[in-house]
Amino acid sequence: MTRLEGRRKTGLSRLAQFIADGKDRSYSDHRKYDLGPGNHLHVSVLSPYTRYRLITEAEIASRSIASSGTQTNEKFLHEVLWRTYWKGYLERRPSIWTSYQKQLTHDLPVELKRQLEAAIIGQTGIDCFDAWIIELKEKGYLHNHARMWFASIWIYTLRLPWYLGAQLFLDYLIDGDPAVNTLSWRWVAGLHTKGKQYLASRDNIARFTKGRFNPVGIAETAFTIEEPEVHPLMPHVPISTIPSASKYTALIIFPDDLTTDLEFIELNQICSEIIIFNPNDEGQKLPDQFRQEAISDTAARLEMDRSMPVRMISSLKKLQQEQGSFIGYSPPVGPCKDQLKMLSNASSIEWLRRPWDEMLWPVATAGFFKFIKAGLPSIRHLIGDNTT
Ligand SMILES: Cc1cc2nc3c(=O)[nH]c(=O)nc-3n(C[C@H](O)[C@H](O)[C@H](O)COP(=O)(O)OP(=O)(O)OC[C@H]3O[C@@H](n4cnc5c(N)ncnc54)[C@H](O)[C@@H]3O)c2cc1C
Repeated sequence: MTRLEGRRKTGLSRLAQFIADGKDRSYSDHRKYDLGPGNHLHVSVLSPYTRYRLITEAEIASRSIASSGTQTNEKFLHEVLWRTYWKGYLERRPSIWTSYQKQLTHDLPVELKRQLEAAIIGQTGIDCFDAWIIELKEKGYLHNHARMWFASIWIYTLRLPWYLGAQLFLDYLIDGDPAVNTLSWRWVAGLHTKGKQYLASRDNIARFTKGRFNPVGIAETAFTIEEPEVHPLMPHVPISTIPSASKYTALIIFPDDLTTDLEFIELNQICSEIIIFNPNDEGQKLPDQFRQEAISDTAARLEMDRSMPVRMISSLKKLQQEQGSFIGYSPPVGPCKDQLKMLSNASSIEWLRRPWDEMLWPVATAGFFKFIKAGLPSIRHLIGDNTT
């Protein structure tokens, strides 16, 4: 896999090529094969772009449908919708995020600390796991099946806490996403569908890596992880998809949503400045590089395509003191939202929601297939799908 550039244009051409090659249609036959670093030929590797919303789920779905309809690419469309589902699910059950944050502060017993160190440097002696650690650190990407196997071995063979594995992924994945990552780890751990764990098997790994690995000594049974805490379903509080006023001092953008379009609104007509909140200092890891590129790309698109002045800020303190009226898309549950909360008290700020999120997130209350059933009419309406 060549290094992924954090540019919308690159993501869009990657998507166009994937569809032109018919890979959205052959996806269901081949997607489970992990052929190794540089060889992820049957999946799109678009997740870093959708994570930061350089490309939206709606764009992927509508372009795939325009080219392939909805029958042969159904599996691909479903996978795209998993992201929406996980994000909506965390919106409705935000205590999962706060409880995960709290767990990360727990101390580990000495024996587990040793086990953790061996896992992180890829010295467990389990061939596939040790190779995935290297791929994770060097490429910032793992195939979905590898992520599932990795998480399963982490939890049931190495007996390490799921939340530390989730944290490791967030640190190294270019697409590291608070909702998708936390909830996927919980799904493997049997905490999403209570009591239904995902257990990786040696045969399955050997088969879907085409014999690259033959792991010895991985757990043959899963165990139940107790979670005393209940994560209540919070009521859906509707958020408007269109602004209430005709003029604002500035639009606020942050890394969770770098699609610069305000849907249905001409940006230049409602504000004269764009503020990009970039809470992270430039780091050395691949995810930091991708995110910084994505932010620079967003600033360049706004300045060039829209002729809008862009101001970058890394702290919200100054903005708190400004007497402006701001508008932006409501941040999803995660670290960015945790920081942006401080702004809501001090300044006049109106949060909107993209129609996609406002219609689909509220129905992510139970399992994925219920979500699809409940959301399908909205999805078809939003992407203008008239196929039967
Ligand atoms: C333990 C674990 C942790 C994960 N952590 C993350 C994470 O931090 N960030 C992240 O973006 N994905 C995460 N995933 C989901 C999934 O593995 C990746 O989104 C997918 O592998 C990305 O590769 P791709 O773009 O080639 O996907 P494709 O197979 O080409 O799918 C197309 C698009 O659909 C979406 N998608 C596909 N599979 C999933 C899925 N299972 N859940 C949600 N969306 C999906 C992505 O936006 C992806 O770009 C995790 C999965 C597991 C099992």
